[in-house]
Amino acid sequence: MPADSIAAFYRGNKHFAVETVAAATPGPGEVAIRIAYCGICGTDMHVYHGNMDARVGLNRIVGHEMSGTVAAVGADVDGVVVGEDVVVRPLDSCGACPACVAGHRHLCHKLKFLGLDTDGAMQDVWVVPAHTVHRLPEGMKLDHAALIEPVAVACHDVRLSGLRAGEDVVVIGGGPIGVLVAMVAREAGGKVMISEVNPNRLSIARKLGFDGVNPIEEDLAAAIDTRTGGKGAEVVFEVSGTQPGVDAMTAVAATRARIVMVAIHATKPQIDLFQFFWRELKLIGARVYEPEDYEQAIALVAAGAIDADTIITDVSPLADIQKAFEALDRSPTALKSLIRIGGDA
Ligand SMILES: [Zn+2]
Ligand SMILES: [Zn+2]
Repeated sequence: MPADSIAAFYRGNKHFAVETVAAATPGPGEVAIRIAYCGICGTDMHVYHGNMDARVGLNRIVGHEMSGTVAAVGADVDGVVVGEDVVVRPLDSCGACPACVAGHRHLCHKLKFLGLDTDGAMQDVWVVPAHTVHRLPEGMKLDHAALIEPVAVACHDVRLSGLRAGEDVVVIGGGPIGVLVAMVAREAGGKVMISEVNPNRLSIARKLGFDGVNPIEEDLAAAIDTRTGGKGAEVVFEVSGTQPGVDAMTAVAATRARIVMVAIHATKPQIDLFQFFWRELKLIGARVYEPEDYEQAIALVAAGAIDADTIITDVSPLADIQKAFEALDRSPTALKSLIRIGGDA
């Protein structure tokens, strides 16, 4: 265990301060992890923009899309050994509320999201509850492993959709999560189309082998009709978080389609409820992930089913975290930007 830890604190107003702090030691039931890489999530971008100050405060270490190596374990910790490569499922639940009692701990009424409600992984040494740790298979590249958290989101979304092999799938929104949902849906046997308005993101989607449609250039519903013989898509993922995306989700849906709400809609969009009646559609909410989604995500990354090298577009050292957020904020081409902490350069 190192004595000191370099940590990046969010100080408000689009500003991070990188400081040296004493490395925390793990208490009972806790594990200390030397962080290798930590991805910048869309949520971290919301923090950077000041949209979450009330929740995170102005002295918060963000970061939850991480990979690392166990540095120390506290008392009463089984199944985790110093030196093992791991990722963290950044959810801490109360265990006692109705959602927890029903077995839906990821929907805990008092859910703490590590890296937002507690300090996160943008530091050398991160101490977390042992129950959040998942071990990685031998030899997995730790930069690729930093994608496991967002891949687990995609695994949860696809699992809840009930996707069956051969079904037509439309993913509305081709950002990092949309592309990962598309990859996991393809692995499950779906015929996947991606709707994306940003030409750079659309070209990445096409490079990854997906049938990409720009709904600004062509009528999305007509394009999906043509591709599906007038049937529409059996499974639709709304990942855009926009009103046009919500309009599209019912317009491209086949009869009895399942629509999965992946995006976080901060406002209340208009929804074409008539289509839910007319086509007997189902709308399914999907939030974060459960342990089995993490295990599936680890298996997919280990099998090379996620094209990590195409998705990871930028890697910067922790000392340059400020520049990395600024660059990601204005870049039209970036998909996933990683911060390298202890990982190999
Ligand atoms: Zn995230
Ligand atoms: Zn609970």
